[in-house]
Amino acid sequence: MEAHSVWAEIDLQAIAHNLGEIRRLVAPQTEIMAVVKADGYGHGALQVARTALEHGATRLAVARGDEALSLREAGIDAPILVFGGVPAGQLQRLIGYDLTFTIFSRTMAETLSAAALQAGRALSVHLKVDTGMGRLGFNRDPLALDDRPERRIQREILAVAAMPGLELEGIYTHFASADASDKTFAHWQFRLFMELLEMLSRDGLHFPLRHAANSAAILDLPDAHLDLVRAGIMLYGLSPTSDRGRPDIDLRPAMQFKTRISQIKEVPAGFPVSYGSSYRTMQSTRLATVSVGYADGLNRLLSSRVNMLVKGVRVPVVGRICMDQSVLDVGAVPGVRCGDEVVVFGRQGAAELPVGELAALLDTINYEIVSTLTARVPRIYPG
Ligand SMILES: *Cc1c(COP(=O)(O)O)cnc(C)c1O
Repeated sequence: MEAHSVWAEIDLQAIAHNLGEIRRLVAPQTEIMAVVKADGYGHGALQVARTALEHGATRLAVARGDEALSLREAGIDAPILVFGGVPAGQLQRLIGYDLTFTIFSRTMAETLSAAALQAGRALSVHLKVDTGMGRLGFNRDPLALDDRPERRIQREILAVAAMPGLELEGIYTHFASADASDKTFAHWQFRLFMELLEMLSRDGLHFPLRHAANSAAILDLPDAHLDLVRAGIMLYGLSPTSDRGRPDIDLRPAMQFKTRISQIKEVPAGFPVSYGSSYRTMQSTRLATVSVGYADGLNRLLSSRVNMLVKGVRVPVVGRICMDQSVLDVGAVPGVRCGDEVVVFGRQGAAELPVGELAALLDTINYEIVSTLTARVPRIYPG
């Protein structure tokens, strides 16, 4: 770390610990799928995948075909579910890698079936049902609860089941608001999903892996754990809700974002700082320039709003955040030196600056902060 001016420190032991907490929440026969899309929510997909598989996860999930391919090429041989759609032009390249695809329409099923026949191998697939997320999935209209016998979704899924070359290993849905304190809509979605499974089973269709639960549902909707849970944000030690969540579950944030002081200067009152001189010092003070900017993932909207930790003390960012640098007012902290470590989020001494604090300032969620640290920030795995 001495060699870096900005870096993300990833504690893989925290990931292992969090997986243990997830294991504690779900039944022994329920499988855990580690969601490592978006480079493992910014933590490094490969390292997180390896750690998760060593500590009890049996499957992985990503959003895109390319993400699955990088894991395969790095030697990961666990089952990988691709959540998103795969463009027809990418299918040929992906088909030899033993990936599990999501099917969310009849057209897509036809494409995959044809590709499977051409490749001379069966493709493992999971069907995705939209019960109210309004995103991907066979539409189980959340507003149509009446029991019409010729339900379109049932016909479509039966048609897919009859297509050659597809092995229907799983079926799943996704909650729109399992993180809300009011679970009414989540319960509603779950009921629609279970009803559909019931109808399909009367038609003789059984799926070995039925799944619905994201982190929020792992924590708060035990009925929805079913055969497999899809653990994302909580694997990284962060809460899917903005509040503290369940006090009986100990999640340890795995990522800390750090930088270093590149220059310190004594300045008088009224000294202008950074682009646009939007900030002027109130009194004579000491400024520290640090090597982190918006091109690292430190959102420019945090200019003159966010704090960082120096010597275990919170200090304010003053003036506009630049592409590669920001400026701190360290006048209140004695003994600050050039080269000192600075925490953007994480811990330093007894002080903690949680990622949720940055998220709150930006009116967004912790997911976005960690997953948008850019590629030029080295991920460091101590220990
Ligand atoms: C991202 C994602 C998850 C994981 O959600 P978390 O809230 O991070 O646990 C689960 N399922 C699907 C379909 C997803 O896209």
